[in-house]
Amino acid sequence: QARKRFGQNFLNDQGIIRRIVRAVSPQEHQRVLEIGPGQGAITASILATDCQLDVIELDRDLIPILEDKFGVEKNFTLHQGDALKFDITALAAGEQLRVVGNLPYNISTPLIFHLLTAHSCIKDMHFMLQKEVVDRLAAKPGSKTYGRLGIMAQYYCEVESLFDVPPEAFTPRPKVQSAIVRLTPYEKPPCPANNVDTLQKVLRSAFNQRRKTLRNTLKGVIDSTEIERLGIDSGLRPEQLGLAEYVAIANAVNSNSE
Ligand code: SAM
Repeated sequence: QARKRFGQNFLNDQGIIRRIVRAVSPQEHQRVLEIGPGQGAITASILATDCQLDVIELDRDLIPILEDKFGVEKNFTLHQGDALKFDITALAAGEQLRVVGNLPYNISTPLIFHLLTAHSCIKDMHFMLQKEVVDRLAAKPGSKTYGRLGIMAQYYCEVESLFDVPPEAFTPRPKVQSAIVRLTPYEKPPCPANNVDTLQKVLRSAFNQRRKTLRNTLKGVIDSTEIERLGIDSGLRPEQLGLAEYVAIANAVNSNSE
């Protein structure tokens, strides 16, 4: 019985499972972290590649099932707990992890923000998400779905939307379309901010009221004259600015407070 509060939609389509594992292509020497293995739909195919696999599952009732299926495998380590609180950096222990998951949709945004804080010990991430969230992650300036999630993901990572997955691939069927996304953290962010917290603050404020002009949404964070001094029109709407411009604004906010 799938549990709604844990966002459980189990994959039942072998073709889709094969496509996901092919997109990831784990190598024997690599370490993989699977978030929310459920009943092990993807887990079995990942383990078959002989990589080192850690999985983290929140639902205690699924632990004996996973233990039964995979407990004997030497390359398998099971963690029971909340992925939102999981210490990725400690698990990586100086190596780079490949992260995979058919994520619980109710926590996917906070989970991605959590993983981005550990970007330096992640080689790449492949996620099944609501298609709408994949669109937000990959969104370019000017599009309706462009906002804080996409900008922060693109600050740290190259974002590739790989393929769509229909509701029929799951039991029970979700109400929404799904899609697979690949996030590959850059070695160094191409457009570094002096302080990422300030960038987050600027984005939160800018996109809080996305129909207003920057001059209005950023009131209290930075003066419109300061925005203009950066060569940015303060009469633009938040979705019209690229990452580089937000970084420039955040850096100006920092130098003002110094
Ligand atoms: N990977 C399986 C599959 O494809 O069939 C299950 C995917 S299901 C959409 C999401 C899984 O994440 C469920 O097994 C659920 O119990 C687990 N989960 C939910 N919240 C979690 C959390 N905070 N930390 C870790 N796992 C969680």
